This record gives sequence, C-alpha cells and structure tokens, in this order.
Amino acid sequence: MQWPPDYDRSMRLYDSLTRRLVELPSPPGPIRIYVCGSTVYQRIHVGNSRPFVLGMWLRSWLRHTGYDVTFVHNITDVDDKVYAESVKQGVPSRELSERATAWFFEDTDALGLGRPDLEPRATETIPEIVEFIQELVDGEKAYVANGDVYFSVAGFPEYGSLSGARLEEMVTQETSELKRDQRDFALWKSQKPHEDAAWDSPWGPGRPGWHIECSAMAEKFLGPEFEIHGGGNDLRFPHHENELAQSRSLGHAFAKIWMHNGMLELDAAKMSKSLGNVVALQSVLEVWGREALLVFHLSGAWSKPVDFDDHVMQQASARADRLRDVFRGAHQAAAECSWERFSAALDDDFNTPAALAVMHEWRDHDLLRRALGVFGLESLAETDQAPPEAAALADRRHAAREARDFDEADRLRAELEETGWEVRDEAQGYRLVRIR
Ligand SMILES: [Zn+2]
Repeated sequence: MQWPPDYDRSMRLYDSLTRRLVELPSPPGPIRIYVCGSTVYQRIHVGNSRPFVLGMWLRSWLRHTGYDVTFVHNITDVDDKVYAESVKQGVPSRELSERATAWFFEDTDALGLGRPDLEPRATETIPEIVEFIQELVDGEKAYVANGDVYFSVAGFPEYGSLSGARLEEMVTQETSELKRDQRDFALWKSQKPHEDAAWDSPWGPGRPGWHIECSAMAEKFLGPEFEIHGGGNDLRFPHHENELAQSRSLGHAFAKIWMHNGMLELDAAKMSKSLGNVVALQSVLEVWGREALLVFHLSGAWSKPVDFDDHVMQQASARADRLRDVFRGAHQAAAECSWERFSAALDDDFNTPAALAVMHEWRDHDLLRRALGVFGLESLAETDQAPPEAAALADRRHAAREARDFDEADRLRAELEETGWEVRDEAQGYRLVRIR
C-alpha cells in the first residue's frame, strides 16, 4: 500500500531517560533493539511475556513500515537466583538453567510470534564480559577487592539519571565489606561455596554480575550505540541504571531510547477462579489460549501497569471472538485512510489500544487480516467449518427449542460443547463457533 504523499511517516516512542517522546530515524533505519530477557531457573511468569511480546510486535511493525530491524533478547542463565534454586532442588546449576532455558523457548514459542533475531546467553558471552570488566578496571572506573570487582558509582556523576533513584535506595544494593562505597555494585563475583559452576578470570574463578552481562551482550551484537533498550519497569533500578553507567563510563553512547514496559499487576483474590495462584505463562496459555493473551497485551498501553486477572482475560477473550466474528460476516470495504488511522496510532508511541479500537470498527476482511498479521493474530481470520456430527447435534438442539423442550435443548448444548463447538442463537437461526 502506498502512503499518501502528505502523510507523516515518523514514529515516536517515549524515552524513560529524557522523559519525552523521541522520533525514530526515517526508514530503513537501522533500528537495533535490545530487550532484557528472563532469568532461567523456573517456568517463566506470565509477566515475562510482556517485554517479549512488545519486542516482537515492535520489530514486526517496524519491518512492516520498511525498517531494517535487529531484535536481541537475552537469556540470563547465570545469576544468584539460578544458584539459589539449584541448591534448593539439589540439581546442578547448569542443568537447572539448561532445563529452564528449554522451558523458556517452549513457552514463548507457544505465543506463536516467532523468535527474536538473536537470543544470546550470558554463559556464552563470558570472554566479552571479562574484557568489558577489564576495560573498566584499566580505566579506573572499577576496582578489584578480594576476587570481586566493583563498579565505582562515585566515578560516574550521571548515576541515578535513568531511574531518579535516591541515595538511600542506592545503598541497599547488596551491602559488602569489600565495597569502598555501599552504592558500588559487583561486576564480577568470586565463587562462593554453594556455587557449583565458575569461570576463570584475571581476578580468580567466579562469575559475572547480572548488570554487566547485559551491557556486554547488547554491545556484542548491536555495537556501542543502538536505538532502543527495553525491559520491565522493575528493571529501571538498579539493573538499567547500572548498565547505563558501565557502558557510558567507557565512552559508549549505549541506548538512545529506553522503553520501560508497565508491569502486570496480579490480584490474588481475583485470580482464584481458573488459575489459582499459578501464573506461569504456560498455565495462562493452557487456560486462555494465545489469542486471548495477545489481545490482552494489545488492550493495554505498553508503558502503563495493567491488571491481570480472570475478568480482564474474559474481556480479552470476548474481544478476540469479536474480531474472529468479522470474518464470519460479510466483507465491507473500509473507508479511505482507515489503514492510515491504524498506522498513526502505532506510530504515536506504539499505541496498541488505539490501534485495536480502529480494528474493531472494520468489517473489511483484507484490512483486518493485514492488521492482525502485524500482531501474529492472523489465526483469527481463519473461519472453520464445524464437523457433521456437531452440525447434527446443533440441528437437533434447534428442533428441541422449536418444540419448547428446553431440558433436551440444554442437554444437547452440553453434548455439543464436549465436541469443542458452541452454538450461538441469532435472529435468523443459529451458528456454530469453535470453543478456544
Ligand atoms: Zn538486562
């Protein structure tokens, strides 16, 4: 589709560092994106799906509009949490993180959005991490203390600019007698007795701190300067503040735009009905299906916190049904500039709720299918035919209703539902809809 010549094709995104909307360069860019991935020691939480989905959608939309995009989503497979869980379960830490990495792929594959371009693991990036730390030590931005290496916060005057963190919050980062200043944070941690895996380094056996892993992985694959750094709002401090300090201390520009997605807010009381307190992404996908979860993510502005409970998932599921129903009805060509309205919503800080509202107005099958495709939801455009046995049950139920035998009609409805189909009564009879 050609853009009208006067249409402004620029896209703007909210940057957490400068706290304003920043315009992306014109297509083809490039646009390089790094989004912090999951720490792998258990099945990932449904909340972990938000940065993954946002990254995949942003890549999809940018490519759709002519950008050359690289999306890197890392896997944190060495971290305090991995060691702690391995001790608890009595499983070697490497075995645990390998297993949890496989779960991560399985669960995010089930979202049906494809894979990021690169999914580096911290344990595969150790040489680059060690080199990064050495440069910081050589430049006197970091110091060695008894096998540990710490970043010196006092040497980076901009520290706190990303998160607005106050001094009292900063000193709570893992206190240690080895630190010259309690605000300092570890780049390298010497091996502890309960840690069954360690790597060699100029400072002795140990393993990297979490923050340096991301600086090293982002720069290894995207270079010292790239367009977008994403992650959950909970990572702003200390994780992203520390990444920024490490990279900028070496004179690297690092990310131009920081995108912090709002967190999923779970209300345990409202969760009880179908999921209990289990909120693994895998469970949510089993209960609600990928389409409802994706529509749920579309319905919330990416930078804002969003409630997650049964009620909002029911709403998302109903919205998915409404979109699916459009393809069961007649095609009606949309008004001119309909796509431009959809596009303008996404270009305005990737406003997916506004884009979804435009999609809900459409009865134009081609346009809606194309828009759904941006979000990996083209499956909603597939109209399927009920099998003959379901159709026969529906006919019998209809006849029972006509004869005002409502008990029999209810019984047949229940029988029909066991075949995976539900009947919806309409003014002109009824239709069959697959239960998702
Ligand atoms: Zn990170």
